Amino acid sequence: MTETFGAEFLVRWLAAVAEAVEREADRLTELDSAIGDADHGANLKRGFAAVAETLAKEPPTTPGAVLTTAGRQLISTVGGASGPLYGTLLRRTGKTLGEDERFDRTQLAEALGAGVAAVSQLGGAQVGDKTMLDALVPAVEGLRTSFGAASAAAEEGALGTVPLRARKGRASYLGERSVGHQDPGATSSALLFSTLAATARTEGAS
Ligand code: ADP
Ligand code: MG
Repeated sequence: MTETFGAEFLVRWLAAVAEAVEREADRLTELDSAIGDADHGANLKRGFAAVAETLAKEPPTTPGAVLTTAGRQLISTVGGASGPLYGTLLRRTGKTLGEDERFDRTQLAEALGAGVAAVSQLGGAQVGDKTMLDALVPAVEGLRTSFGAASAAAEEGALGTVPLRARKGRASYLGERSVGHQDPGATSSALLFSTLAATARTEGAS
């Protein structure tokens, strides 16, 4: 039987993301200080703390609404580029999940695929441009196989940004000097998917 998940699964995931981002904020900021403006950790810490707080206060009852609420919160609390980009990711994914009470892993992969396409459209970036998309695109592909495969693919994608030259976002202003550094946004995207896999494991899903 195919395992299905409800709204509370996504609320637990996003609460775990808030904790993970808090734990890793210094590392994310350090990466952003090398090729950006040293605010990625602070941006996401503020954003996901607000998301977790909103969801804890008034948890929406459908999975789609959990993600659209979270996305809206990110857009309104994060000033940097990553706020609207992650906000769009979650909003579009939530809208694609629709009004259903439950979803399975394949449906989540499809909805996240639509979310990732929206991120690419908003920011004009593609795989290879040294952005969060270098982790998000392979992660969604991996999710068609398993939560663990999604997490591993995101991590590999994030590590793969090191030799790339940034073509989008603040890091692109550095040109060749962006080579040799891991992209902060790809790193936080890998964190989103390792946390998703960990949340799935607590439900006995792989
Ligand atoms: P800012 O760049 O405004 O300071 P953050 O530091 O929070 O915002 O986020 C930086 C990250 O956002 C980058 O590491 C990159 O992964 C991602 N990013 C920036 N611009 C784009 C874009 N056009 N498309 C996709 N991701 C992007
Ligand atoms: Mg920054």
